[in-house]
Amino acid sequence: MKKNILIVPGDGIGQEVTAVGKKVLDKIAAKFGHEFIYDEALIGHVAIEATGNPLPEESLEKMKRSDAILFGAVGHPKYDNDPSAKVRPEQGLLRMRKELGLYANLRPIKLFDELLGASSIKPEILKGADILFFRELTGDIYFGEKGRKNNGDTAYDVAEYSRYEVERIARKAFDAARTRRKKLCSVDKANVIETSRLWREVIQSIAVEYPDVTVEHQFVDATAMLLIKDPRRFDVIVTANLFGDILTDEASQIAGSMGMLASASIGDGTGVYEPIHGSAHDITGKGIANPLASILSAALLLDISFGLKEESDVIINAVDAVLKAGFRTKDIADATTPAAKILGTNAMGEEVLQRI
Ligand code: NAD
Repeated sequence: MKKNILIVPGDGIGQEVTAVGKKVLDKIAAKFGHEFIYDEALIGHVAIEATGNPLPEESLEKMKRSDAILFGAVGHPKYDNDPSAKVRPEQGLLRMRKELGLYANLRPIKLFDELLGASSIKPEILKGADILFFRELTGDIYFGEKGRKNNGDTAYDVAEYSRYEVERIARKAFDAARTRRKKLCSVDKANVIETSRLWREVIQSIAVEYPDVTVEHQFVDATAMLLIKDPRRFDVIVTANLFGDILTDEASQIAGSMGMLASASIGDGTGVYEPIHGSAHDITGKGIANPLASILSAALLLDISFGLKEESDVIINAVDAVLKAGFRTKDIADATTPAAKILGTNAMGEEVLQRI
């Protein structure tokens, strides 16, 4: 198979982990006889520094032309401490999602058995948990009208959803549930929020088309509790942008670390595959970032955008084998991990490459 893959490392540890993710794609191409043609593009703080724009037109053009994108992260402490900065790295990310029509963010939350001890949740509650989140990505409070009034002393952000926006992600989530344990949980706050009432109405209307999928509706506050109390009760979860943002970070603790979780953002065009973590400036440049989320993002890319399930499974199995062999990065090590088994970013990548 011949495909164009755009590498967009972005900021901070995005640069470090995406380099490892790319090596894994290279190894897969060599092993299975595929031809992956790479290009690279700027986004985020590095793009602002180079061009003044968090998503330069040249990057956007390359994104639109590519078959899939392996993405790192955006962000820089300079902007985190200056909420009034007009040009910001995350504007690049939001615009990319909008321009590429990426309306569904998929986050598989699956715990590798070897990491049961790395989570702050008890192993007996976690074992076997396997959740697939669908977070809506282009609507909600992030994209509605926002501003200040009363001399700046009152602020507002408008949340908006259309029936069409809810329908298209609902169908993706129902389709996925069909290929899994056939359970769908839709999360909203329909007791108080109008967009949530529309959300629930639409999910109920689509559910009729999927009689084989069992649907439940949960409020977001109850879901936050249930994810910790009984994560195994969930199969596919579908929710709006803001709720999904928060719940998926919470759920990352089920997997033991943000450094383990991959995500796919898909829509009608090019898909973007990225770790769920940010640019982590507290560890940037130290060579200790966990590259497994980027490696697992590469696996998702092969599976979802190119339909290369076998290649994808080879990567996941290699990660599993590395963990079984006892290797850990610092974020997923625990008190029982021997110092010799605690690896940096590149060494961890090498262990995975060897097992592919
Ligand atoms: P973060 O995910 O960057 O880091 C949170 C914590 O997890 C940090 O202690 C970090 O060291 C650790 N961590 C994250 N990824 C890790 C990895 N691969 N290996 C080991 N440890 C890891 O979140 P934050 O600190 O809230 O944000 C830092 C910056 O990232 C901010 O500028 C924020 O805006 C940005 N951000 C970007 C994205 C994105 O690009 N999609 C997502 C979240 C945050």
